[in-house]
Amino acid sequence: MNNSIQHSTLNSLSIGLRVIQKFYVNLYVHTSKFYGINQQSILIMGMLTFLGTGTSQGIPVIACECEVCRSADAKDKRLRSSVLLQMDAMQLTIDAGPDFRQQMLRANVKRLDAVLLTHAHFDHIGGLDDVRSFNYLQKLPTPIYGNSQAISGLQRTFDYAFRKTDYPGLPEFQLHTVNAAQPFLIRQQTIIPIEALHHKLPILGYRIGDLAYLTDVKTMTPKELLKIKGVNTLIINALKKENHFSHLRLSEALTIIRHVEPKQAFLTHISHFMGLHEVIEPTLPANVRFAYDGLTVSFEG
Ligand SMILES: [Zn+2]
Ligand SMILES: [Zn+2]
Repeated sequence: MNNSIQHSTLNSLSIGLRVIQKFYVNLYVHTSKFYGINQQSILIMGMLTFLGTGTSQGIPVIACECEVCRSADAKDKRLRSSVLLQMDAMQLTIDAGPDFRQQMLRANVKRLDAVLLTHAHFDHIGGLDDVRSFNYLQKLPTPIYGNSQAISGLQRTFDYAFRKTDYPGLPEFQLHTVNAAQPFLIRQQTIIPIEALHHKLPILGYRIGDLAYLTDVKTMTPKELLKIKGVNTLIINALKKENHFSHLRLSEALTIIRHVEPKQAFLTHISHFMGLHEVIEPTLPANVRFAYDGLTVSFEG
């Protein structure tokens, strides 16, 4: 009950913000036309919604009796990590894990123009079969962007979707291999890929305007860090306080945040080992917060 109240409040809040954003964009388009500014320079306002903020098992973990998994606090309930980015010209998700269907229903998503993949581990691609609903509705294959490792991982996991067959109702993907050194465009929006290592696997984060989203990072080179230096909003993974071989621990994530110096940072891909949201949150630096499912953040594209 509390959950649905919170979500409907979030929905009406986000609708309100969308109206304000539309007005802002329209005003900007109007004045740009008046001053003869190139359409490319139009300021795009966007909204990010956290669809999931949990690590690969989600929270609660099946059959776990720990205090986090038993917590009644909605902020301790985390689906697998993913975000929805809504801009005027399009909406896309970063990753589509096993909770994708539930996440699309919960956020009332009616159109999906692309999926950006960080990597092809199952907690990030496991729900891609369900893009079928958008294939039927939009009468288009869903554009999927990822590095070569993510694209070949997707082709292995969903091999049935790529077989020549008459079997109807398969998901349709339009695959785009991203070069980590090369920014790319989706409908006029520049997207800057950021490379990181998830243990030894090269994965991608993405910078869109003044916002950067990175998850499942363990290490990053100074060159890649430079691409996100000074962003307004940084979203980055923090698994737990203890060390982990392939994910940043909390102190490592905070070190990266101090280096990048964003105005605000949100931690995601969180394990039940991190502790209760209300207990751990007050221990964070002033500009850092734990993300939670349903949280929205505005950005400039
Ligand atoms: Zn993951
Ligand atoms: Zn637990």
